[in-house]
Amino acid sequence: MFATVVDRRYRREMIIRARAVVTMDGPPIENGAVVIEGRRIVDVGSFNEVRAHNSGEVFDLGEQALLPGLINAHCHLDYTCLRGKIPPQESFADWIRAINAKKAKLSQKDYLTSINDGFAEAKRFGTTAIANLTAFPELIAQIDPPIRTWWFAELIDVRDPNHASELVDFATGALKRAGNSGGGIGLAPHALFTASRDLYRRCEEIAQREKILLTTHLAESREEMAMFRDESGPLYDFMKNIGRPISDCGDQTPLGHFSKTVRDSSTPKAFGARNDKKAIQNDPEWIVAHLNELAESDFELLERSKRKFHMVHSPRSHGYFAHSRFPFENLRALGFNICLGTDSLASNQSLSLFAEMHAFQRSEPGLSPDKIVEMVTVNAARALHQENALGRIRPAFQADLITIPRSSLANLFEEIVAFDGHVSWVMVDGKI
Ligand SMILES: [Zn+2]
Repeated sequence: MFATVVDRRYRREMIIRARAVVTMDGPPIENGAVVIEGRRIVDVGSFNEVRAHNSGEVFDLGEQALLPGLINAHCHLDYTCLRGKIPPQESFADWIRAINAKKAKLSQKDYLTSINDGFAEAKRFGTTAIANLTAFPELIAQIDPPIRTWWFAELIDVRDPNHASELVDFATGALKRAGNSGGGIGLAPHALFTASRDLYRRCEEIAQREKILLTTHLAESREEMAMFRDESGPLYDFMKNIGRPISDCGDQTPLGHFSKTVRDSSTPKAFGARNDKKAIQNDPEWIVAHLNELAESDFELLERSKRKFHMVHSPRSHGYFAHSRFPFENLRALGFNICLGTDSLASNQSLSLFAEMHAFQRSEPGLSPDKIVEMVTVNAARALHQENALGRIRPAFQADLITIPRSSLANLFEEIVAFDGHVSWVMVDGKI
């Protein structure tokens, strides 16, 4: 749906009026309006002001709050068809075995259906941009996403660690051949226990060269901590049994391991020990999912870190696995950019970011709701390097907008976090 040339079907200017406009640049504007020209926002303000400065057809949304479309910072639409199919398991390793058994029964056609169903569901819940990891980058060319998409090729070489470069290069080629998805592309070495050091380093090298994004899973489970720090536990046993070399286990936390893994291709020292400001600015930024398991030494490492990577928390998937508490306040205090994501439906019930916000509020009741809404708008936009294009209603930003009903009583941000249901009006890239 993302045209590459100016589409003459776009109306020249459209004034959209709503009971309230949530710009994410200060308090909501009551009786507000947004002006859209083509794919972009060109003005926003009170309806009267906007009307005085702009001509164009007025589209009145009535008693609705207009807000930026939501951005899902971590998802795997491949597994939309696995909703409710895997009950919580005894161990994380058992869960990996269970999903692998399900995946073995799925065909390419099943995956295509799953991904398309996932896109449709995400859009119904008001998501207009998504960071989606797929294990099948070769299928992307057959998919026309209805929302802005960052496709990440999820890469695993645990069973064949000698061809990391070929794997990354094949995936990068498939990503680049796929059509315009309104977003971008990236590489996703799956996790430290399934992706080799060579694979991580090749991904950094290519990301730097091609100016594409990077994401990975890190420090998700207690078992990952036990594997790398203590050389023990079900995940350690599982990986050892399938032939993963275990010489990198036994002396460091997953984060400590990661800091050494990602240093080499782009940085001469571990990421916590650099002072070369220019080189740091050129380092590719990782979007790191999970970080539930952090030791004292990890917080010290993060504090010293010059590479402030982005973080994604998935509250409902976190609950499904009963992981350790996500150390949100500590990480926020260290200045990290923290976003929300749904993860896949193999460990979640829906692709609703409203439900994620609601679940997150239950675990962080002291956090003001506008900060929670930032996690699915401005913070996620920043993680995708779109802080000047997405996540706010601001002139020159992309016209990705949604509405929810506005009642007269509640604090509007509170109302957004509490919203439960499908979104009735969605604009993506200037199109309704
Ligand atoms: Zn994930």
